[in-house]
Amino acid sequence: MSAKIRTRIAPSPTGFLHLGTARTALYSWSYARHFGGEFVLRIEDTDVARSTQDSVDQILESMQWLGLDYDEGPIYQMQRLERYREVLERLIAQGKAYYCYSTPEELEATREAKRAKGEKTLYDGRWRPAPGKTLPPVPEGVQPVVRFCNPVDGEVTWVDLVKGPITISNREIDDLIIARTDGIPTYNFAVVVDDWDMQISHVFRGDEHINNTPWQINIFNALGAPLPQFGHCPVILGDDGQKLSKRRGAVSVTAYQEDGYLPEAMLNYLARLGWSHGDEELFSREQLVAWFDGTHLNKSPAQWDRAKLLWVNAHYIKHADNHRLAGLVAQQLTKLGIAVDATTVDSHLPQVCALLKDRSDTTVALAQWAAKFYGDVKPDPAEKAHHVTELVRPALAMLAEKLAQCPWDKASISAVLKEVLTAHGLKMPQLAMPVRVLVMGTSQTPSLDAVLALCSREKVAVRLLGA
Ligand code: GLU
Repeated sequence: MSAKIRTRIAPSPTGFLHLGTARTALYSWSYARHFGGEFVLRIEDTDVARSTQDSVDQILESMQWLGLDYDEGPIYQMQRLERYREVLERLIAQGKAYYCYSTPEELEATREAKRAKGEKTLYDGRWRPAPGKTLPPVPEGVQPVVRFCNPVDGEVTWVDLVKGPITISNREIDDLIIARTDGIPTYNFAVVVDDWDMQISHVFRGDEHINNTPWQINIFNALGAPLPQFGHCPVILGDDGQKLSKRRGAVSVTAYQEDGYLPEAMLNYLARLGWSHGDEELFSREQLVAWFDGTHLNKSPAQWDRAKLLWVNAHYIKHADNHRLAGLVAQQLTKLGIAVDATTVDSHLPQVCALLKDRSDTTVALAQWAAKFYGDVKPDPAEKAHHVTELVRPALAMLAEKLAQCPWDKASISAVLKEVLTAHGLKMPQLAMPVRVLVMGTSQTPSLDAVLALCSREKVAVRLLGA
């Protein structure tokens, strides 16, 4: 292992950044930061048909949004083909890899025959060189793949940072294809050359790769390369207990960004989903870095819990700076067709956020509140019928008249409200409830004087007249 801690995340740009990948990225990043090491971003784009620039952009944007800064990268595998070719040729020259000319049809026929006999459908070793063995004549017009000479017996053992010791017999695995007919390396080969060249000391990844690790360890050994340590994190299950997938709700980081989650909430929630530090549920990025040393990673799958994520998000919204929230809410308002310039003093958007942030678990919910101040309001007919009674109409009329003239601040508005109550012999709720329904469309709002002061005088007048 190299002396320096170096971790990496190696997403394939064939879609958005999946939550599972974001979580392993977070663990890799935290581990590097905890030990003063380095974190590398590598884009595994050798699946040329499925890789897209759009996906690369989304991955980079998600990493930036989560604040997962990298010390090197993005490094693109497709820019390293020369290097893979060189290592491949060396392995072939050393008799550790070989050309295989079996056609897909032949391979399928062999597999079928093995299946019929109830045997494992491993590669039959037809093109594997061996002392004294005569290989079949090279067929014309067939582009070969390159296979790795996997050890035929013995076993591969590693102590997984998450799962503990794992042993897999070499008899279970066959001679893996490490380069395709077009010369492009396969994942298991490119990943080893890269982790070696980039001096990666610790690999955190999803446990769907556990079956690849024995091959990778054998390739590292064949290259005489030092082995990194591996940690395989269990999958994330959806709240129905099935593997988290697109069909079961949002699985991309960007979707949560759009749905009004704060990056620090996502970071906190994702980190806790599969790792713990005592009973701590809410922690900052700095605390995570201080605590995360690769231990206390859960061995069993984590379950996605939307309610808990909302709770975590609500906490961070409550503590977020109001100007920052205003900027985020303005973006959400744009999606609702409401343009508010959060930077002007007159918009009062930061104050609106301050007033309503403890009632909102996402910035989308906060924007729905804010929309009542800047957009149109349609009072709920049942609430309107219930609260806007004949008894209060005269008081509402007087209020509208007084509010047209008073200074537009919370204290003056409060004084007007009291004056109207006294004049009509009403209690505060008898007046406040109908005013809330008319002005905000709902009877559930924060203190009325604060709400009215943040709404424009014109909007309040129009809405009261709607009584
Ligand atoms: N490109 C692989 C993936 O996205 C990387 C796996 C690894 O970290 O080795 O699953």
